[in-house]
Amino acid sequence: MPRLDARHVFQVTNVLDGLLAAGAATHALAAVPALGVVAATQAALTATCLCPRCPFLGPVITRVATTKPEVALTFDDGPDAALTPRILALLAQYDARASFFCIGRRARQTPQLIRVAAGAGHSIENHSWDHSPRFALFGSRRLAREIDDTQALLTDLSGRPPTCFRAPAGFRNPWLAPLLAERALYCAAWSHRAFDTLDPATARIERRLSRGLTPGAVILLHDGRNARDSAGRPVLETVLPRLLQGLQTRGLRAVDLPTLLAGHDRTRRPQDTAGRAATPVPRAFR
Ligand SMILES: [Zn+2]
Repeated sequence: MPRLDARHVFQVTNVLDGLLAAGAATHALAAVPALGVVAATQAALTATCLCPRCPFLGPVITRVATTKPEVALTFDDGPDAALTPRILALLAQYDARASFFCIGRRARQTPQLIRVAAGAGHSIENHSWDHSPRFALFGSRRLAREIDDTQALLTDLSGRPPTCFRAPAGFRNPWLAPLLAERALYCAAWSHRAFDTLDPATARIERRLSRGLTPGAVILLHDGRNARDSAGRPVLETVLPRLLQGLQTRGLRAVDLPTLLAGHDRTRRPQDTAGRAATPVPRAFR
């Protein structure tokens, strides 16, 4: 059966737009409900772009089917001169590894932090150059520049090319997946999101993270910026040690995302949180 591709849907929608626009010129009254259909279609496509874990816009890793007792820790939006070293120290204390999804522009400002994190055995991954709120509106050329400039800098600093990309806020568009496939980059989302940039209540964050925490989970945290608790401290200073302790209690090892993917049960495909099979992993990882 032919696969439904998001770009085809966009093309079909454009044709529909054109047909309906032509119809509107001659049958204005008849077109009124049809224009409602177009509006609804466009709204649905927009909603898809804003759905970070939806596989409709291409393969996206939200959870990994693994045979090992591992979960991936991922930190976004750094490096940050104040918070990243603190997080690295906590990870070292618990002998945990993580993936740092770095913003290219910030990595250029604090290159030493990338070297230190990579030297400590963490993986450095690509989180775009500018982390623009308009990322999902960019065309193919600008998206490629966001990916490639960051990829080049992080490879240079860490000594290893990133193997995963995460879109800013997880917002994608139909042009992103082909670019990532050409570069053998995984598109990474998450199964557990802390909302640690927004929520000052550490107990609530911990509850959010512990719910359904099983092997293969991908946890999204932030070292680039953090909400402050009632004592004015970044929430992760409280949440991260408890999370790492909790993982040890459950017999789960905190690893970086490439390590979690390496433990992928090859008889199954990476699974999204709803248990549906995502599309196959890039050739480079088979
Ligand atoms: Zn981000």
